[in-house]
Amino acid sequence: MAMTNLQDLFIHHLKDIYYAEKKLAKALPKMASKATEEPLRSAFEEHQRQTEEHVKRLEQVFEQCGQKASGTTCPAIDGIVEEGEELMKEAEKGEAMDAGLIAAAQAAEHYEIARYGTLASWAKMLDMGDAQKILHKTLEEEKQTDEKLSKLAMQQVNRKAA
Ligand code: FE
Ligand code: FE
Repeated sequence: MAMTNLQDLFIHHLKDIYYAEKKLAKALPKMASKATEEPLRSAFEEHQRQTEEHVKRLEQVFEQCGQKASGTTCPAIDGIVEEGEELMKEAEKGEAMDAGLIAAAQAAEHYEIARYGTLASWAKMLDMGDAQKILHKTLEEEKQTDEKLSKLAMQQVNRKAA
């Protein structure tokens, strides 16, 4: 697809994050099953539910653009998920696995935060107020998830010190 203006760029990135969200919705249950500590497991389960909601919200934005919802391969999220899969194969269950899972999940959240931040700004520039609100809502949830993961990592550090 030729990207000649901001509208084209917006749609392209919408397809990119749509692909990424669907990929993450599939990866999160596996991450939950590998988590050792209960709070981490339930954080992944909760974010899996949020991620399904993010997919639906993107479908609303596609609709507002008069576009059929569809994804385009996102090599960045493929790489992040692949790293996570390698880790799940190689890390020993327990502390190392949990620390690695948090690191992998934060890489994914940071990618999403970058994408949603940009998409929300572009929606504003394109005078798409409703889309901007929807994208911003998801952006806030991704940020909260990232903070929660940071707290879980700190709790792990503190448990170790105790
Ligand atoms: Fe998401
Ligand atoms: Fe997320």
